[in-house]
Amino acid sequence: MLTDFDPSRAGKTFYDLSPITGALDGLSADYVCCINNGTGPSVLLCGGIHGDEYEAQIVLRRLAERLEPADVTGRVIIMPSINFPASQKGKRLSPFDGQNMNRFFPGKAEGTPTERLCAFMTGTLFPAVDLLIDVHAGGSDVSVVPMVFGFTTPKSVVDDAGLKRLMEAWGYRFVQHVDGIDETACGAAKLADLASIEVEGGGGRMKSAELTIMEDGLLRALAAYGAIKPKLEPVPFSGVHFTAGPEGQYLAPEAGLVEHLVSLGDEVTAGQRVALLHPAAGERSAPKVIASPMPGYVLRQTEHAFVSPKQLIGNIGTPLEG
Ligand SMILES: [Zn+2]
Repeated sequence: MLTDFDPSRAGKTFYDLSPITGALDGLSADYVCCINNGTGPSVLLCGGIHGDEYEAQIVLRRLAERLEPADVTGRVIIMPSINFPASQKGKRLSPFDGQNMNRFFPGKAEGTPTERLCAFMTGTLFPAVDLLIDVHAGGSDVSVVPMVFGFTTPKSVVDDAGLKRLMEAWGYRFVQHVDGIDETACGAAKLADLASIEVEGGGGRMKSAELTIMEDGLLRALAAYGAIKPKLEPVPFSGVHFTAGPEGQYLAPEAGLVEHLVSLGDEVTAGQRVALLHPAAGERSAPKVIASPMPGYVLRQTEHAFVSPKQLIGNIGTPLEG
């Protein structure tokens, strides 16, 4: 663990994370940045749990550099790249243990590098804040529409109404409602009675517009939470609350080459043609039609042209009633 770590130290302090994992094959360790300015709300922003979700890491590194104590009311903790062993190798998972970090929370202080980093977050950072914002992205394999989803507990400082208000403050069109998984960062937060919000967006090649959407959303949300002074005009929510489950996924029936017929965020009807699967070989050129399994909105699409049998081509979210 970090010997001199004090998340309540006044001002802005960067702490090197290398003592948590020890030396790892010449990698530069990353940092956690704690910014304190008096009393007020407290929040932990975490990025890069999946190492190849780089939009989150770029945006959080930028925020950690730019936010000064005078911008903050209370406490903002930023860890841009918690899974630095994976991200610095261009991987989703740490090559040092092969573990999917978002299935190993709350972690183990004496475990693998992945488990130790998880344990630092849950054991040391969670008790210092009232809200976790866990920023993900599509990664190398899929693109995902900008969206948020979150969790409270009966004992969390942020309650259901507060969570809804915050999620709608992002300025995003899509707010998802899911049950969650205990072994994720948000799942571990729930077990610790800490409210949490997971952010999604981007994926595939890095696009400037998606970085801007992610950064602007975080700035709006942090201001709505009261943790930073407002830097952007609030955007009134006019989006969609929705759910998404396995029944909304459309998978490749066989190996082939994907042509998407719809875009992320598009509204589709049940049975609508959402993709074509072209044969990768043979004398036949006619593609198979992939139809939407249900009405709703396109949330994710594969970034790959070639897909294997049963590989995800995309998925659909269903708007909630009312
Ligand atoms: Zn992720």
